[in-house]
Amino acid sequence: MKDKKTPLLGAHVSIAGGVSNAPIRANELFTNCFQLFTKNNNRWAGKKITPDESEKFKVVVSDGDFSGVAAHIDYLTNLASPKDTLWEKSKKGLREELQRCVALNIKMLVIHTTSHGGAGIEKGIERYSDGLREVLEGFGSDGKTGEENVMVKVLLETGAGQGNGIGTSFEELAAIIELTSKKTGFRDRFGICFDTCHAFAAGYDITTRKKYEEVMEDFDRVLGLENLKLFHLNDSKKGLGSRVDRHQHIGWGEMGIEPFRFIMNDKRFVEVPKIIETPKEKDYLTYDRINLDALLGLVEN
Ligand SMILES: [Zn+2]
Ligand SMILES: [Zn+2]
Repeated sequence: MKDKKTPLLGAHVSIAGGVSNAPIRANELFTNCFQLFTKNNNRWAGKKITPDESEKFKVVVSDGDFSGVAAHIDYLTNLASPKDTLWEKSKKGLREELQRCVALNIKMLVIHTTSHGGAGIEKGIERYSDGLREVLEGFGSDGKTGEENVMVKVLLETGAGQGNGIGTSFEELAAIIELTSKKTGFRDRFGICFDTCHAFAAGYDITTRKKYEEVMEDFDRVLGLENLKLFHLNDSKKGLGSRVDRHQHIGWGEMGIEPFRFIMNDKRFVEVPKIIETPKEKDYLTYDRINLDALLGLVEN
């Protein structure tokens, strides 16, 4: 039995062998949350979720008493791309991803804000917002589709600022939401996934109590803390403001353990699921366990 009082914490788990293996792996880690790719993350094509698979997945999730299940989009989708072929493929990809979420009754989908491909941040943000709006319009204006009436919240992930990345600052993320929802009233279909490694690489220092509070105040002012719907808890192999996205085990990297203590004990985030995306090394059970235990060990009563 999972203790309901334990923090909402889990890991990104593999779907090797089928999507319903993800919650089985999460059960092996005794977590109450998990994240998965609903298909191979390096390929465009994804198999349609069959009714059988969908049923099996839902049964394991419900038996496992999971409180937070998030899907993560593949690594190819780039709604900010100036290239038409890639942009069209990305819209199709996002549409299919949302459909798979509905089939699996997953209510949170994390998407990257990706790269403007040299067109500039402003153009990239416009392009991204146009693509996003088109997909969501086609997906049902009330956010519901199919018999399940599942509302899938689209969570924009804070970017590390690599290359031509957009969505690196809170302001850029706010601009995307603003542009997408102004024309359609879609605001409540968005949330933010705060990736600690990405934010640190982007220059947001949360390593001391004072700086952590300042960053959260900034987030609240620009995006609203109520829109922070998911954390990715990862330490960083690279330094503050390096704009390089390299995840490290909790407390082993440039961020150290303190930022995770602040988050794990922040009363404002009790209801926000927290997912590790730390390196799996050769044995995911061992390393995920080490990182989850490191985080659980920080919780003060
Ligand atoms: Zn992440
Ligand atoms: Zn990352």
